Parts: sequence; structure tokens; C-alpha cells
Amino acid sequence: MFRVLKEVFIAIPKGMFVVFKQMFHKPVTVDYPFVKPPMAPRYRGLHFLERYDDGSERCVCCGLCAASCPADAIYMEPAETERGERYAKIYEINELRCIFCGFCEEACPEEAIFLGKEYEFASSHRDNFIYTKDDLLVKWPRTKPSEVKFLRPMRRVAWQQSEEGRPQH
Ligand code: SF4
Ligand code: SF4
Repeated sequence: MFRVLKEVFIAIPKGMFVVFKQMFHKPVTVDYPFVKPPMAPRYRGLHFLERYDDGSERCVCCGLCAASCPADAIYMEPAETERGERYAKIYEINELRCIFCGFCEEACPEEAIFLGKEYEFASSHRDNFIYTKDDLLVKWPRTKPSEVKFLRPMRRVAWQQSEEGRPQH
């Protein structure tokens, strides 16, 4: 009997007070997918292949990105234009193998391959994770301004800040 009375007059009001108190707090969740929180500056999402300002492809199929990839996720085959310019006839990234380390972005001498902010590329079929050159190459004419100038420096600054804040052993 005493236990029941304790539940009714102490435990339940105590629980209700906690619920009532939370009603006035700012929510910690967001209404995804209608609201999308900004990603951290160092976030590395889906890759894209950049172009020069005249629309030509930056990638010269040198293979440095593939060589630096620890997951063996990049495959390419080179070709030459009539003017003898080298380009990637085939360029594919297996996003299921990729560990989003960013080494390919760092290794690229042409600033051609980048990891963007896109994270909504879930699929129910494995084949859909093989991203071909058509999928990766930035659409032309551009639909939004190029981020090339900012992405790498922004990530380096964010990395330095996180290193400075890390405890020294
Ligand atoms: S993306 Fe860059 S590193 Fe990779 S093949 Fe093209 S030019 Fe070379
Ligand atoms: S992010 Fe890393 S794992 Fe993914 S393709 Fe680039 S180098 Fe390979």
C-alpha cells in the first residue's frame, strides 16, 4: 500500500515535472529531411570531378588519386584528344569501397577530384554505388558556383584547429 502511494504522490509527479520542464527547452533534433543542418567544414561526402572555367575537364588521368587510395576504389582508363591532350575516358569510383579519407583529393595535382558535402546517396542496389565519370563530372553550364578555391583550404584550417585543440601527451 505504501509503495502504491509513493508511486502516485512522488514518482509520477516527479516524472511529469521532468516532461513539463523539457517542453520549454530548445529541441536538439531537426525535422530532417525538411531541415538539413549544415555539415562540419571537414565533412567529406560524395565525390565530384571539377572543370576549368571554360568547361573543359581538369582530370588528366594521371592516376595519382588511384595510387593514393587505400581502398582501391578508383578505376580509370586514359585516352587522348585529337590535339594530344590526355583525359580520362573512363573514371569510376566505387563508393562502397571508399572510406572517405580524402587522400585522392589531396593527391590530385590538377584539383580535379573533390569530396563534396553531399550525403544523400543511399540506394538499395550495390550497382548504384559505382559512380561513373558522367555521374561525377560537374554539370555544365554550372548550376552553382565552384567551391574548388575554398574546399581544400577550409578543410586544412579546420584540421589545424582540431589538432590545436587536441590534448598533448
Ligand atoms: S583526378 Fe586528379 S589525380 Fe586523379 S587521375 Fe585525374 S588528375 Fe590525376
Ligand atoms: S576518399 Fe579515400 S578511399 Fe575514397 S576514393 Fe578517395 S582515396 Fe579512396
